[in-house]
Amino acid sequence: MSTIRTRFAPSPTGFLHVGGARTALFNWLYARHTGGTFILRIEDTDLARSTEQSVQAIFDALAWLGIDWDEGPFYQSRRLAIYNQHIDRLVDEGHAYYCTCSADQIERMRERARAKGAKPKYNGTCREKGLAPTPGAVVRFKAPVDGTTVVADKVKGDIVFANEEQDDFILRRSDGMPTYNLAAVVDDASMAVNTIIRGDDHVMNTPKQILLYQALGSPLPEFAHVPMVLGNDRTRMSKRHGATSVTAYRDMGLLPDALINFLARLGWSYGDQEFFTRQELIEKFDLDRVGKSAGIFDAVKLNAINADHIQAATAQAIAPQLLPFLAAQGWQAHDDAYLHSAIATLQPRSKTLQEMALQAHFYYNEGLNLDEKAAKKFLKGSVLEPLRDLRQGLAELDGFDEPSLERIFVQLMEKFEIKLGKIAQPVRVALTGTSVSPGIFEIMVVLGKQRVLDRLDRAIDYIESSNG
Ligand code: GLU
Repeated sequence: MSTIRTRFAPSPTGFLHVGGARTALFNWLYARHTGGTFILRIEDTDLARSTEQSVQAIFDALAWLGIDWDEGPFYQSRRLAIYNQHIDRLVDEGHAYYCTCSADQIERMRERARAKGAKPKYNGTCREKGLAPTPGAVVRFKAPVDGTTVVADKVKGDIVFANEEQDDFILRRSDGMPTYNLAAVVDDASMAVNTIIRGDDHVMNTPKQILLYQALGSPLPEFAHVPMVLGNDRTRMSKRHGATSVTAYRDMGLLPDALINFLARLGWSYGDQEFFTRQELIEKFDLDRVGKSAGIFDAVKLNAINADHIQAATAQAIAPQLLPFLAAQGWQAHDDAYLHSAIATLQPRSKTLQEMALQAHFYYNEGLNLDEKAAKKFLKGSVLEPLRDLRQGLAELDGFDEPSLERIFVQLMEKFEIKLGKIAQPVRVALTGTSVSPGIFEIMVVLGKQRVLDRLDRAIDYIESSNG
């Protein structure tokens, strides 16, 4: 096949759903994997439901995910003349016709069909009338009445549809707007899209679209219908299963690479490998490995994958993404060496950026509040002397690195005949205000000598004042 051309064609009627993002991702990965072209098309012909905010929300979500496009965005609402040209041609060539049946007539037709146990479809009243265009008339496709249409699906295999089941479906509505099937086929054909990857909720549209390609004399693309994303109770992913909007995951502190990794695994697999970098996904993604069974959206697994990506990323890469979370905590942080070294200590302990920001409090809270329980438990009179001694040893230290710090602690333990645990916890409380943090040597190096001395002084004051 010539160069692969894929597209993502969202209808801008709300935020970008994780299922939609998975569709965008598969198309993008396939284009990137094959060195092809990825097109973005906004399907906004439903004027009542499409909004500018939704378009923006889709752009924002794709930008955050790092899914970029080579052509577009094309807006269907700006291409009405093109659809009309094709509809007129289909009428001229006998593949479509004007229909003036009223909504009531259609309803009665359907009821009669249902009463007979037949499929409720248009009965062809206007099919052979050769009606001229009149205001309010719709244009219908003259669907073949016999034979079959086969969808040769890359994921599902051949799916055979009997043409007699096919309705004379509408191409142009009474308000003059094209229908989804018409606009999608005209666009996919004229944009030379040759691979259509989308959710299998569209399988029923595909025979209609194939008939349209044939009527228009355009070559058929390949179709790959991917099973829907399901919640862990195996019903279609919805709000009940957790957030469904892509940007909600951004706001919870997921890394875009982690969500990409997770979404790629919803329906695609590569042996039993779970962790993939973006580059690896591009190298390894192929339609052959897209499975027939639905992907289950498991939020616990998503968090675990996010933790792995946080661990694998560089602190420099995490820093700009962490800043908004730190700001939300009220911390004035900057993308600088201090932040990078702080992040490095928190990477192994954070599942999300949100968690990381919470744990980073002591790096930024200069007025450190001592947690009362921790202070009472660990800042006791018995550690006053060792803390004073430690403070003095640290003050005299030239290099403030882990080996030097360790040496000071070893001397202290020998002098006071105490174990590390006895002194580490009071020091931790002094430096972080709490009893949980990364290793004390690590955080001391990051905090730097002055902050460490100030905080030890404060702890010493606290012990002195609380012990009268
Ligand atoms: N606008 C359609 C949707 O959002 C696109 C379907 C397609 O990919 O053909 O479902």
